[in-house]
Amino acid sequence: MNILIVGAGLYGSICAYELGRQGHTCKVIEKREHIGGNVFTRYEEAADCHEHVYGAHIFHTNSEKIWNYVRQFADFNHYVNRVKVAHGDALYSFPINLLTLYQVFGTRTPEAARERLAAELVANDNPANMEEFCLSAIGPTLYTLFIEGYTAKQWGRHPRDMPAAAVKRLPVRFTFDDNYFNDRYQGIPVGGYTAIIEKMLERAEVETGVDFNADRDAWMRAYDLVIYTGALDAFFDYRLGTLEYRSLRFEREILPVRDFQGNAVINYTEQSVPWTRVIEHKHFDLSLKADKTLVTREYPAAWERGQIEYYPVNNDTNDGLYQRYRALADALGHKVHFGGRLAEYRYYDMHQIVGAALAFCSRVSA
Ligand code: FAD
Repeated sequence: MNILIVGAGLYGSICAYELGRQGHTCKVIEKREHIGGNVFTRYEEAADCHEHVYGAHIFHTNSEKIWNYVRQFADFNHYVNRVKVAHGDALYSFPINLLTLYQVFGTRTPEAARERLAAELVANDNPANMEEFCLSAIGPTLYTLFIEGYTAKQWGRHPRDMPAAAVKRLPVRFTFDDNYFNDRYQGIPVGGYTAIIEKMLERAEVETGVDFNADRDAWMRAYDLVIYTGALDAFFDYRLGTLEYRSLRFEREILPVRDFQGNAVINYTEQSVPWTRVIEHKHFDLSLKADKTLVTREYPAAWERGQIEYYPVNNDTNDGLYQRYRALADALGHKVHFGGRLAEYRYYDMHQIVGAALAFCSRVSA
């Protein structure tokens, strides 16, 4: 088959690799000027590290199959995400664990921490909003330190104005385990993510700086199958309305110090600090050799059509609109496949994208 793949992000690139391997001819078009979508990294010589241009990307999975799959494209280092939280003058271990509870309450044992936390909780069987849910799950002290300001910044709404269901669980660990992820496998590709994407696209013809939707009908006519990984509403020229997103703005700076913050990721949870995270990229590469360092401040921002879509706002209104677009998409039949985080209007981690793209490709060959 002659296949057109719209988007050179992870989903589109895996499709190009797998379908190319099956003997199909794949052309990939990408509207940005580079491949990789949001996993794009580039080498920053001054700090001798790979910059995670669209935010920190740590690969993690519980699936041995997916872990082995990605490792055919690169070696992965042993990076483990151990986030710290800055609030006022204090620094805390995170996610909330026994060390955090010691830092906040002074409790030294699991039993003492459990008792102290239980005394904090505001009982509520039927929380009316996210704030009430958090107060019942972790109490006011931890809520104020870790959730309130961060959530208000990230989503542009106070937790009081968000549904209780917006947070599914708030894990508190009564051990000193501060590994951000619970998965068995975790790491960052040595040489960055872009090198992986380049390998995946080896067999395909790739054109960057091309927006499929500007010439959609002609592209559709020219190919047997179109795999579309862009925004679903954009495919239909927003005819039913616009799906909402939250955006991000990144401010990068090269600093004349070897090690700025001693960690890859520090979250800033106070509302008065406008950024949510500071990333120091060389820690992802586990290398502190260079005299200089590259840091990025991440600012949450309102999103407008035309900007990069970062986080879908999955509330009832948007999910309902998505379903109506989905019905239009289904009516197009098998000639177009809609896949990836934008076309499915879902936040997906990378391992979920790998799993979904592989599942789709196995259906194409069948
Ligand atoms: P994308 O990467 O968005 O690729 C889609 C591509 O299609 C884009 O390049 C886009 O430009 C292109 N495109 C869109 N429309 C058109 C068009 N009309 N014509 C041509 N091209 C088009 N996952 C993890 O597992 N671990 C993490 O630590 C992690 N951190 C993250 C941090 C942030 C800030 C964000 C936003 C995401 C993070 N993720 C993380 C998720 C990860 O980025 C996604 O799983 C992955 O990038 C999704 O790949 P995709 O191909 O579906 O989408």
